[in-house]
Amino acid sequence: MTDKSYNCIRVDTKALQNNFAAIRKIAGVPVMAMVKADAYGHGMVMAARAFARAGCGHFGVAELREAVLLREAGLAGEIFVTLGFDAEGAELLFRHDLTPVIYSIEAARALADTAVAMGREIGVHIKVDTGMSRLGILPEELVPFLDAVAALPGLRVAGIMSHFPESDDPGAKSNVKGFAAFSAAACEMKKRYSGICHIANSGAVLNFPDTCCDMARAGIALYGYYPQGKPSPDYSLKADLQPAMSFATRILQVKTLPAGTGVSYGHTFRIEQPTTIAVLPVGYEDGYSRLFSNRGQVLVKGLRVPVRGRVCMNMCMIEVTGVEGVAAGDEVVLLGRQQNEVITADELAETMGSISYEVLCLLGNNNKREYIE
Ligand SMILES: *Cc1c(COP(=O)(O)O)cnc(C)c1O
Repeated sequence: MTDKSYNCIRVDTKALQNNFAAIRKIAGVPVMAMVKADAYGHGMVMAARAFARAGCGHFGVAELREAVLLREAGLAGEIFVTLGFDAEGAELLFRHDLTPVIYSIEAARALADTAVAMGREIGVHIKVDTGMSRLGILPEELVPFLDAVAALPGLRVAGIMSHFPESDDPGAKSNVKGFAAFSAAACEMKKRYSGICHIANSGAVLNFPDTCCDMARAGIALYGYYPQGKPSPDYSLKADLQPAMSFATRILQVKTLPAGTGVSYGHTFRIEQPTTIAVLPVGYEDGYSRLFSNRGQVLVKGLRVPVRGRVCMNMCMIEVTGVEGVAAGDEVVLLGRQQNEVITADELAETMGSISYEVLCLLGNNNKREYIE
């Protein structure tokens, strides 16, 4: 039995820490590191530890089980559970000293019942929907909701939060409108309770840091990418973000095929003159999307070469005609740097018609990870 793989995700923990420090500096307030989705493919526990060593004291996950895993791994600090909980989960929130995000009075009541049963108190953050049309109560419901929550035994209003739908586009009108609605809601909350307020994600920190309020919640920027796919020179404050993830594999076989030969399923690539093909042990099962069929590029010996034919489940083919001395066992970089060439998650995202977030999750969460300090 071995858990060795040809394919390896490398995560540079120094880059994670560099990015945390850069974002913290721009935000000027505490930054919650969003480590949901296994830290966007970087490994939740390892990434959270790296951020903690860089001074991070707040962490955000989607589900309760992720928060429990972080506590079991010994992570201190405040951990926010953003997607709610059920009756059984309410007890785990107390047991692991977690911070729930609340968006329904039923959940607040279940939490209060548990608080009473356990003789404990818990601080909750209330999600307000200021234009995302995702989780959260509407701003006009906030005051009665806050009062209803605060009236429940064992519950303390510790904060309100919202989310920007278009902070990656500094010119979008929804940013101004959403922040105005959130500011008004924050004002109402602060008149009554001593909670904090937070709305800024990476796009907001980078494009309009004035919205950082009492805390920012950053995800993609901590992993080294700009939400809009590139730094926007007009708006982004200078942040020296360093991509933390790279992905490399090894060539399994190299061969030269004659004209007229079809490559991979469906023969969507047909060889026109003698062509050298290298076979890679990477496919869509490893998060290398089938959308890279005949469109992706990878790095071999510091050169960009194309993917030929369809990406299979566990393999794909690249053309290395004219690249000197390519042999089985050679390293191929699919994401990251090799000599002077770089393939970024933004480049892969553009080929896929997606965003860097998805590329990082797909590659990071489907391959063996290694950490470099
Ligand atoms: C994921 C998430 C963020 C971080 O968003 P980025 O664009 O990656 O910075 C912030 N807030 C909430 C509630 C989230 O779920």
